[in-house]
Amino acid sequence: MADNIDNLPTNQILDPDEMYAALEEKLRQQQHSIDLGRVHAAYEVAKTAHSGQKRKDGSPYVTHCVAAADIAADMGLDEDSIVAALLHDVIEDTNLQHEDIARQFGTSVADIVEGVSKLTRVQYTSKEDEQMENLRKMLMAMAKDIRVILIKIADRLHNMRTMAYQSPEKQRSKSLETMEIYAPIAHRLGMQRAKWELEDLSLQYLDPQGYKEIMDTLDRRMPELEAFMDSMKEKIRTRLEQEGVNASIFCRIKHVYSIYRKMYTQKLDLNGIFDLCAFRVIVDSIPDCYNVLGIIHDMFKPVPGRFKDYISTPKPNMYQSVHTTVIGSEGIPFEVQIRTWEMHYTAEYGIAAHWKYKMGDSGSSLRSGDEDRFAWVRRLLESQQESDATDFVHDLKIDMFADEVFVFSPKGDVINLPAGATPVDFAYSIHSDIGNHMVGAKVNGRIVPYDTVLQNGDIVEIRTSKSAPGPSRDWLNFVKSGSARTKIKQWYKKERREENIIRGRAMLEDELRHMGVSLDEALSDDILHPVMKKLSFNESDDLYAAIGYGGITAIRVANRLRDDVKSSKPEHRSAIEKVNDAAERREQQAKRNAKAVHGILVEGLDNCLIKFSRCCTPVPGDDIIGFITRGQGVSIHRTDCQNYRRRDTSPENEGRWIKVEWAGTISDIYTTTITIASKDRNGLVMDIATVLNSMNAKVRNLSSRSVGYGQAVTVITLEVKNVTELRYIMNRIAGVAGVSSVMRNGS
Ligand code: MN
Repeated sequence: MADNIDNLPTNQILDPDEMYAALEEKLRQQQHSIDLGRVHAAYEVAKTAHSGQKRKDGSPYVTHCVAAADIAADMGLDEDSIVAALLHDVIEDTNLQHEDIARQFGTSVADIVEGVSKLTRVQYTSKEDEQMENLRKMLMAMAKDIRVILIKIADRLHNMRTMAYQSPEKQRSKSLETMEIYAPIAHRLGMQRAKWELEDLSLQYLDPQGYKEIMDTLDRRMPELEAFMDSMKEKIRTRLEQEGVNASIFCRIKHVYSIYRKMYTQKLDLNGIFDLCAFRVIVDSIPDCYNVLGIIHDMFKPVPGRFKDYISTPKPNMYQSVHTTVIGSEGIPFEVQIRTWEMHYTAEYGIAAHWKYKMGDSGSSLRSGDEDRFAWVRRLLESQQESDATDFVHDLKIDMFADEVFVFSPKGDVINLPAGATPVDFAYSIHSDIGNHMVGAKVNGRIVPYDTVLQNGDIVEIRTSKSAPGPSRDWLNFVKSGSARTKIKQWYKKERREENIIRGRAMLEDELRHMGVSLDEALSDDILHPVMKKLSFNESDDLYAAIGYGGITAIRVANRLRDDVKSSKPEHRSAIEKVNDAAERREQQAKRNAKAVHGILVEGLDNCLIKFSRCCTPVPGDDIIGFITRGQGVSIHRTDCQNYRRRDTSPENEGRWIKVEWAGTISDIYTTTITIASKDRNGLVMDIATVLNSMNAKVRNLSSRSVGYGQAVTVITLEVKNVTELRYIMNRIAGVAGVSSVMRNGS
């Protein structure tokens, strides 16, 4: 905003006591129940702790602390936050520790101060977008308490306001960090005022020429713009008064960075940007908002396509207003935002505002544990499930109800792992070679056990060696990520064949002994070879290796061997056993045939049992995903299946979803189900059947029923080769008279 941009160095030494007095006065006006004695004590502690330290402008360091607390007060933060803002640099820059603060001001304040210090220590280097997004998420997750982020934003805002005193290198790097990290976080939290100021201040250092060009042009055009704004404002004011609407009208030049971005994204010369002015009409109620909108559209011609109703559909960051762009009397377009006072406050201060309202009715509910602390965030999220962009909702969920952890590689890359992940998960997430050759792990410079649970912001370093012994089976007991698990198993399968063979043979022998089966008999070629072939192994070593790495269980093989040993002695067999054996053989045969024709490749698993889910009946060409069932192989779902989209994402279950794909050559027929909604009319089923017939579609089942209101639903199960054929059939059915929709089941 135009009123924040002329913060040029004045070399005036600031008096902290004077600044503090002003802050205290502000708080006295603003928060009647605040304990000013406690705030003052925090000021004294900060002043003593920072005594002797100076800011780059020559002022005592504590002036920065007071300024940050002042910004926090403007945001409407609570007493603990103001106290913490005053103390926000004492852990980082002085001898005071968490305990010292906790003793005098309570653990809540001490935790916030420590949280701010942690964020301050995060090393920042510019990265590609995805990394930046992870870094932002990590900061939010590290903060735990949202007040930490809010105070960090206040801190950064003051540092940016006084950036003129820093070296050019520092100006650039801090501005870049602000533009890429803190302004987006402020935006996500709905704090428009902080976001705009951070962006304008950063731009000033990141593109001084571009910034100056815009400022100069605005200066030049200012008399003309001001005259325009005054006359429009007067017109609107008079008209609203006539209509009996109680409204406050504000107008301003749009902030510099938004003009800058428009110039670059739309490749416009500044003179080509007409709507530099924004009007804001603030009213008492939502009906008034729409009333004013009607009046504005009656007074001026609206620009088509520029009307946006964020009242009925709030933005994901809680923003609400009605926007419209209209043509003023001189043919100059301008934007009008219409909102209530409550919406206005939320737009300016975002999450902080929301929380202030909350504080009003229940006092210190924020202190009573995480559940309460985030209850309002959760409510907020629930109320926004339906809104357009879901990224805010999604991110805040991840951050606040963390099932993820964000850690650094030594190079400063942010790695995202499931909560509870260990250095072994980290190693395998970088590369399977790193995991397989791991000989040690350091977290934040200290050597740690492999099963150490990683925390947000940890810097993780893996030591590797060419002569590493390879992963241990024990690792499978503590790794959290599915990919680490798979990679460890793969290593055992590939690298440890000898060991697997020995291990597998020992396991099988154990099992047979347990069953009381003679090893000599069971492992004789006569018995073993047919069983081996039945299970699709070419050599006995392959079978032992598979048992060794867990591809098949010893008990399953032992059962087979026992049965065959028994059946090789006909005198022991009853008629029923013979019948059962035959049935089992048929079943095995059927299963093996099925396996050969399913046409599915499963990552990291050979020879596993495949089942197509009944909920979504995938066919070749669909995007698919596999779920490892308990004991029934892998069931295949479409990625747009409801059961996949609404899956339980706890780490334990998330790891059961695995990548699968269709094999290159598929010659099989697949069964799938579609549902048709239509008018309930005579001859409908006949017409659908005729269409199906004309395409030679193989129908397994067709049922149609009336659902009332003259509507019918028809469900067809049919056989197709792939999704192309299915779509063709669906399109043809859609063309049948009276059909309103044709959908696949499950999505
Ligand atoms: Mn600071």
